[in-house]
Amino acid sequence: MNFRALTAKVYRSRTARTLSGSVALALFVVQLAVFVPSVFNEYESSSRQQSSIEGSLVRTAFRYSDPDALEIPETLLNQSLVGLVLVDESGRLLLNMGETLDYEHGSGVAPENSRWIHAEVWEIPAESMTLSAIGFLDRRDLTLSVIWKSVGFLVFSVLTTLIAAAVAMLGAARWYIEPMERLISLLRASRENSEGQVPEPIEVIEGNDLSPLAEEFNGLIEAQRKAARQVKVKQQYLEFAAHHDPLTHLPNRLMFEDALKRTVHESMASQLKFAIFLVDLDNFKFFNDQYGHLVGDKMVAEVGNRLRTMMRDIDLVARLDGDEFVVIQKDVQDTESAEEVARRIMSVATAPYEYRGFTLKAAVSVGISCFPDDVHAQQAEELLGEEIVNNAAVALQESKSNGKNQYQLFNEKMRLRLTARIRLEQDLKMALQDGQFEVYYQPKINIHTRQCTGAEALVRWRHPVNGYVSPEAFVPVAEETGMIIELGAWILQTACDKTRELQQLGYNGLNVAVNISAVQFTDGNLLPMVSKALEQSRLSPELLELEITESAVMHDPEEVILSLHELSEYGMKLAIDDFGTGYSSLAYLKRFPVNTLKIDRAFITDISSDNDDVAIVEAVLGLGKHFNMKVVAEGVEDEEQLNFLKSQGCDIAQGYYISKPLSSDQYTHWLERWPYGVQSDNQTALLELPQPSEVNGSRE
Ligand code: C2E
Ligand code: MG
Ligand code: MG
Repeated sequence: MNFRALTAKVYRSRTARTLSGSVALALFVVQLAVFVPSVFNEYESSSRQQSSIEGSLVRTAFRYSDPDALEIPETLLNQSLVGLVLVDESGRLLLNMGETLDYEHGSGVAPENSRWIHAEVWEIPAESMTLSAIGFLDRRDLTLSVIWKSVGFLVFSVLTTLIAAAVAMLGAARWYIEPMERLISLLRASRENSEGQVPEPIEVIEGNDLSPLAEEFNGLIEAQRKAARQVKVKQQYLEFAAHHDPLTHLPNRLMFEDALKRTVHESMASQLKFAIFLVDLDNFKFFNDQYGHLVGDKMVAEVGNRLRTMMRDIDLVARLDGDEFVVIQKDVQDTESAEEVARRIMSVATAPYEYRGFTLKAAVSVGISCFPDDVHAQQAEELLGEEIVNNAAVALQESKSNGKNQYQLFNEKMRLRLTARIRLEQDLKMALQDGQFEVYYQPKINIHTRQCTGAEALVRWRHPVNGYVSPEAFVPVAEETGMIIELGAWILQTACDKTRELQQLGYNGLNVAVNISAVQFTDGNLLPMVSKALEQSRLSPELLELEITESAVMHDPEEVILSLHELSEYGMKLAIDDFGTGYSSLAYLKRFPVNTLKIDRAFITDISSDNDDVAIVEAVLGLGKHFNMKVVAEGVEDEEQLNFLKSQGCDIAQGYYISKPLSSDQYTHWLERWPYGVQSDNQTALLELPQPSEVNGSRE
């Protein structure tokens, strides 16, 4: 025990002081009450004793003696009896002895030091009469001894009082203050790290020195309660945040999935149908880019709000993703009533609304699936929810690909497509391991010199049963499943190896263009993958061109700009593929470190008949010139198109007219037979183009 600290605590505690003071005072008073009468009694009894001893001595000395011939014993006077007067019955003075005594008959004169002297009268039966003796007793010794005893007793009293006070103080500290302080520190600690029970506040007694402690205690309790309340509010908030979307305050995917599970269960028990509507805003990205994200957010919030207001309380409206909502409509009678709801959803969502001077009008596509009509009832209950959402997603996809701004009910045809798609996914997983992929090469030529500048690498899948599957069919699936990362790396490595091999055969200036999917672009691992391929093939970076589609570039331009800069710093070339289809913003185009624009095949195909396409091609060529980018025309299928492009100053052409995509060996043979050779930078001579059929012996 830290005595100093304890004393300090006791000193601060009024109760401890009062308690110990009271104990001390009480003890002192009790001691006095016992001691004072006992001292007094002792003095009294000692005086009486002295008087009786001396009285009996005097009586013995003069009993029956003759008053006229008194015999006075020599030792009669002593320290105690300092004077003696003897008178007879008539008052005659018979004896007056003692050095300090001057006695006249009838009046006793006290000796000088009379303070200590006390006169005592004794009757003495003498021979013929009774004599009166006045004894002068010195009580100095007696008084002094009583005083000394008193002093001793007082000292003892004070000491015991002090000890009692100290014991009381220590007791108060030990049994009263310390537990209180421990309680407070416990409480403090518990407030910091517990969400447990909060004790009740204690009563504060005014004037009690523990009242500050009690107030502190109560304050802590209050703080703890407040903290507990805050924790509760926080929990409620977190609970809400975990299950709701911050923008629309609608339930989020998590909550939707829970609700869906419950709805499936209820529907199976009650035999009542329900419908799922997947609602997706059309061209939302374009909208966002056009008006800014703030307006885009407002629009999402507004559509969400309208959907919630439109539906009944028993239904659920949730936001799944950026611009995608889901609605669960319970107790649906038939598909007609589901369609009716879909129409209402569309009209509600597409009604215009004003925001800061803009009149905004969203269009939505809706995919509908009904339970239990559209699901395989035999499967486990947990899978039913997943299936119905997948079905609605397929129906939504159908609405989108049929031109958007419409609803579609899930149907059997879609189911077949879905099954085919699932099978495709499964087959795709096996294909890479089984070596079913090949890389084909479609040559590109310089329109003016006809020399081959390189080729675009295009992946081919030779399915063991279905034969060649178009990349347009499986690349999107590979992208969705993430398999494109592994597949893309393999394609890149193969293309680089092939180009390096051709270099070793003497085709020095040949480059290779490899398609990079948006998924690879955002994966964050593109640069390491590309540099690894270049390193392993020992191909120099300028001979590699990465093609990324315009729509992928515009999906997140700011992010893409960063990646493109990284790649371009590394030395490889970059091309925007399918240019003209992806709503490029010219403001962004200026900031892309891109070397090549590839005009989409669709614009080249109709170039001879469609004036709009001519205008687009001219515009792209103009842009290329302006931004100092090469322009590649893809899908050139005849002489006319080639001549037109040439007249417009297009640099490079690619298409069936020059060559279809070729297998690796075919490509080598094609190069051997191509009469204009391979472009090296200093060759710019214009040569006549032979009929492509003369060199095209390839299949496809
Ligand atoms: P893309 O990159 O625009 O490739 C050009 C497509 O046009 C190729 O189709 C090619 O065979 C086709 N084509 C070329 N010249 C002509 C022509 O004169 N007439 C016609 N009608 N078509 C022509 P393909 O190989 O079926 O590829 C389709 C798309 O699949 C590619 O479009 C590309 O976006 C994607 N793709 C192909 N290979 C890969 C790949 O290795 N990785 C990735 N991520 N995507 C690929
Ligand atoms: Mg391409
Ligand atoms: Mg293309």
